[in-house]
Amino acid sequence: MTTTSLPPARERAATGVPAAPVAARGLHKRYGRVHAVNGIDLSIEPGEIVAFLGPNGAGKTTTIDMLLGLAKPDEGSIDIYGMSPRQAIARGLVSAVMQTGGLLQDITVRETVQLTATLFASARPVDEVLARAGILEIGDRIVKKCSGGQQQRLRFAMALLSDPGLLILDEPTTGMDVEGRREFWSAIRADAERGRTVIFATHYLDEADAYADRIVLVRHGEIVADGSAAEIKALAAGRVVRASVAGVDERTLRALPGVDSVDVRGDRVLVRTKDSDAVARYLLTATDARDLEITSHNLEEAFVALTSDPDRRTDDEGPSA
Ligand code: ATP
Repeated sequence: MTTTSLPPARERAATGVPAAPVAARGLHKRYGRVHAVNGIDLSIEPGEIVAFLGPNGAGKTTTIDMLLGLAKPDEGSIDIYGMSPRQAIARGLVSAVMQTGGLLQDITVRETVQLTATLFASARPVDEVLARAGILEIGDRIVKKCSGGQQQRLRFAMALLSDPGLLILDEPTTGMDVEGRREFWSAIRADAERGRTVIFATHYLDEADAYADRIVLVRHGEIVADGSAAEIKALAAGRVVRASVAGVDERTLRALPGVDSVDVRGDRVLVRTKDSDAVARYLLTATDARDLEITSHNLEEAFVALTSDPDRRTDDEGPSA
C-alpha cells in the first residue's frame, strides 16, 4: 500500500520541489447529518493516473467538487499546485470533465470547441485537441447527433484547450456502452502518456483496474485503501475464516501472517486474512476451535466487502460480546 505523504507546498517550494498537483489534508464536509467526507488526506504526484473508486454515496463527487473549488470544505485544506483550487483553475492548470451538461445541442463538435477556445487568453489549436480526444473526424457533426461517448470525448477536448497539468473527471463514462467507454479511455490514456496528471471518480471496478496507476478506495467519506490495482486486488483477494471457539486470544490471531482483521462475536470468531492456512492451522492446533469454514471472495464481492458497512457485513455473526 502506498499512502503518499508530501511536505506542504511552502516547504516544497523552499527546497526547489515543484508543488504537487493535489495536496489535500484533513478534508471534512457535512450536509446536515450526512458526513459526506470524513477526514480525507490525499496527495497526488505529477503524472499519476488515480481512480477514486467507491460505491454510490461514498463521497467521491463531494471530494472532487472540493478539489475543483465548487464546494468548500468544513475543515481541512486543499492545495492544487500550491494554490487554491479557484486560482489553479483561473490559471488553466486544472480542467474538469463532468458527467453531463454544458453542451449546446445544435452546433457542431468543432464549433463547440472553437466557441470554448474564445474563453481562454491562450488555447491549444482546435484541431489538436479534437485529435487528442479522438474526434477530429467527426468535427462537422451536430452535437445532438453524437453518441454519449462522443459527447464525453467532446467535453474532454474542451478540457484540453488550456493544456492543464491536472485533469479531473467525475464518473465520465456513466451510461456509455462498453465500446464507448473503451474509446473514451483509450483517448484519455494516450493523452496521459504525455505526462498529464489525471484523477477520475468511478464506481466501475474494471475501469479503475484497467486505466489507473493508483486506486484510492473510499467508503462513507473515508479512504479505506490506497495503492496500485495489484495491491488492492491482493487486499481484496483475501479470505474469511470463521470458527466457533471459546476464549480465543485475539492478539495472537492478529499477529498471524496475512491477517487483516479479527472480529470476535460471542464464541464466533471471524478473521479476514490473506493467509487462511496459517489461521486455520493455528485455530485447529492451538485452540479448541470447531465448525471452521473458509470462504474466498471474487473481485466483485471483495470490492463490496471492502466498501460496505463493516457493521452490516458481520450481522450474521450475532451481536457483539
Ligand atoms: P455517486 O457514485 O452516487 O455519485 P458519490 O461517491 O459521488 O456517489 P457524493 O455524491 O459525494 O457520493 O455523496 C456523499 C453523501 O453526501 C451522500 O450521502 C449524498 O446523499 C450526500 N450529499 C451529497 N451532496 C449533497 C447535497 N448537496 N446536499 C445534501 N446531501 C448531499
